[in-house]
Amino acid sequence: MAAPKVAVVGAGVIGLSTALCITEACPSCSVTVLSDRFSPNTTSDVAAGMLIPHTYPGTPIHVQKQWFKETFTYLFAISNSAEAPEAGIHLVSGWQVFKNPPKEEIPFWSDVVLGFRPMSEAELQKFPRHRFGQAFTTLKCDCPSYLLWLEKRLKATGVQMHTRKVEDLWDLHSEYNVVVNCAGIGAHQLVGDQELFPIRGQVLKVHAPWVKNFIRDGDGLTYVYPGIQRVTLGGTREKDIWSLSPDPGTTKDIFDRCCSLEPSLQKAQDITVKVGLRPSRPSVRLQREDFSQGGLKLAVVHNYGHGAGGFSVHRGTAKEAARLVGECIAALQGSSSRAKL
Ligand code: FAD
Repeated sequence: MAAPKVAVVGAGVIGLSTALCITEACPSCSVTVLSDRFSPNTTSDVAAGMLIPHTYPGTPIHVQKQWFKETFTYLFAISNSAEAPEAGIHLVSGWQVFKNPPKEEIPFWSDVVLGFRPMSEAELQKFPRHRFGQAFTTLKCDCPSYLLWLEKRLKATGVQMHTRKVEDLWDLHSEYNVVVNCAGIGAHQLVGDQELFPIRGQVLKVHAPWVKNFIRDGDGLTYVYPGIQRVTLGGTREKDIWSLSPDPGTTKDIFDRCCSLEPSLQKAQDITVKVGLRPSRPSVRLQREDFSQGGLKLAVVHNYGHGAGGFSVHRGTAKEAARLVGECIAALQGSSSRAKL
């Protein structure tokens, strides 16, 4: 069999990291990324990029923890290298605060982030409306920088990138041996997944370079996440809302909520508003599917539905998707050598 041809549909954090893991696991593969939008126009560009896992109710916790750990370890190494500023990866310390003690005082990811501990009474004085809190150090991606860094690495290994809207995965069967579906919320239309739904998120990106610590209200709705260039203020979680238009009333509400957590933000400048649709489903769809029509076959690997936590687990799910691509190629090579006998 000639060099296996693999198409990855989607150029958000999931598509680009999956393409990279495929080139690492299968250097002889010819990999192409096909996407109707690239950075800076993907959902991944809107994200805050904090490594704090979201919980997928349909996926075993030990699997989610493994994905998070692989992602943390990968990005920690980048943050500790000369690549860090270009890749937009940095460590950030801060607090997750609660009005009432949470159900889980020790979350499953507490021994993956660094220095996880309950907040002291002195620290809690900063948050007079909150009674309980957790302090830790985690990683943050400046998302557009990280996506461009991934694209640069892919191009350096010979991966082709084409702007193309794929109407039907089957349309790719004559050009590629394996197709990997990393279309995010686009999979709703592309493969008709009724379990996939949007959770609309609106955030503000502001200039406030004096804010150095992250603050997250434990309800997950209000957060202040400082990045290398800008601070992300959030947010909203609106289920089944498809609108990408910013809502001015919501902008004011987010700003007020964040100022009540960090009053110095009243002096923030240069406010821009972004909206994205989190590709949500009970569990990430990470599986093989064999398509066939009229005696012809196409091996497909799905890797989408990362909801509110795509950055937190992307490297772990990308490695698993690359392993599944390897299985598809081994099966194709087995069938082509049997055909020659
Ligand atoms: P996308 O980035 O949407 O990429 C999908 C790609 O597929 C795009 O390139 C698109 O053009 C392409 N595509 C779709 N359909 C087709 C088609 N038919 N043909 C060709 N191409 C197609 N996660 C975290 O871990 N931490 C955070 O702090 C965080 N903050 C967030 C804040 C907000 C406001 C939002 C909205 C999300 C946040 N997330 C966060 C979640 C994170 O953004 C997502 O989980 C992640 O971006 C999903 O990545 P993706 O590559 O699957 O999707």
